[in-house]
Amino acid sequence: MRIHHLTLLALLMSTTTLAGTPEPGVNSGRLTAHLQALAEYGKNPQGGVSRIAYSDADRAGREYVLGLMRNAGLTTSTDAAGNLVGTRTGTEPGLKPIVIGSHIDSVPEGGNYDGDVGSLAAIEIAQTLNERKIQLHHTLQVIVFVDEEGAMLGSIAMGHGVDAARLNSVSQSGKTVRDGVKFLGGDPDRIDPVRRNPHSIEAYLELHIEQGGVLEREHLPIGIVEGIVGILDCEVTIEGFANHAGTTPMNQRRDAMLAAARFTDALNRIITAKPGAQVGTVGWIRAQPGAYNVVPGKVVLGLEIRDLDAAKIEDLYAQIRKESEAIAKQTGTTFLLEAHAPSEPALTDSHLQLIIAKSAERLGLAAKLMPSGAGHDAQEMAALGPIGMIFIPSIGGISHSPKEFSRPSDIENGANVLFETLRNVDAPRRQQ
Ligand SMILES: [Zn+2]
Repeated sequence: MRIHHLTLLALLMSTTTLAGTPEPGVNSGRLTAHLQALAEYGKNPQGGVSRIAYSDADRAGREYVLGLMRNAGLTTSTDAAGNLVGTRTGTEPGLKPIVIGSHIDSVPEGGNYDGDVGSLAAIEIAQTLNERKIQLHHTLQVIVFVDEEGAMLGSIAMGHGVDAARLNSVSQSGKTVRDGVKFLGGDPDRIDPVRRNPHSIEAYLELHIEQGGVLEREHLPIGIVEGIVGILDCEVTIEGFANHAGTTPMNQRRDAMLAAARFTDALNRIITAKPGAQVGTVGWIRAQPGAYNVVPGKVVLGLEIRDLDAAKIEDLYAQIRKESEAIAKQTGTTFLLEAHAPSEPALTDSHLQLIIAKSAERLGLAAKLMPSGAGHDAQEMAALGPIGMIFIPSIGGISHSPKEFSRPSDIENGANVLFETLRNVDAPRRQQ
């Protein structure tokens, strides 16, 4: 799979030429300083941040970021969803905007890089353009999306639209999303117009930390994201028969826990039987009645499957269903599988992949194509136009933790690849 993609990429790369000469990079020292300053908002004793969307720390951090946007020469506004939007008008008003950005909210006990790197690198690029008086043809919009980690609110508001259930849900801050949006200066009653039309952007580009350990392990500075995986969640109820654990002979049991164990093992076997980056997990389990001395009569567990290919997810799920029937027979149990509607994979644009690859190559940075196993605002922006994503290494593959770390040099590389990519997306299309 990977070799196939790399070969394809190499072939296509030979026919794609980038415009002009590479621009000197961004101001890495300033970017690092901004990241450190942002880390003060919601700082926790473990060295990370708890900057949960709609919290006081989130509001204060956003004020700081808004100031950076203004210093970068961007015209700023907060839309009705609470997204921070910084605009730099292009020289050709008829062209669609190019959007770059990410988020600055964190999970509880989160780190200083997830979202922050992409948001502050985007602002740094705007500031660099401003200082060097570089005019882009397209209007540039830097967007810091609201509430990525909880409801993915800001990008959903732009991409697919927000429904009442999402607005009424209670966020980690304790506020409903609706009240949270108001708290941040948005207007939940006027959120519908935030949604943009399909084909309304030239491109959406996002720099993000990998949140996994692949790039570090392979000593690669840049990942070119092929797409953001789709996810299928399924609740599995296994019914057996609860009976005395001392007096029920082994050959007369209908043990729901044994069936669950075989099922978990089967899932792992099915997922790993084929090449590819698909993943499958049993993430939680509850046994009833739940005592040392009772053979479990009922087990409920949750499984999820992720891949870039929706058809592959379907196929794996079908195999797992079939396997559950066999396990039910062996163990004298019944299985009920209730799958939720899967989230669709969002593929990145192949032309943007090429431009990112060429940009990295030009900067002397090795890169590889890879899926994103985590969700991002980009998956929603895909409803509006082509998306491209750039990953940089996460040390130790750690994320959603105060121990999350990316080296300043990796952040600088990522920001420069984003900068170079932006300039080349902006350049007039060559005849090909
Ligand atoms: Zn993120």
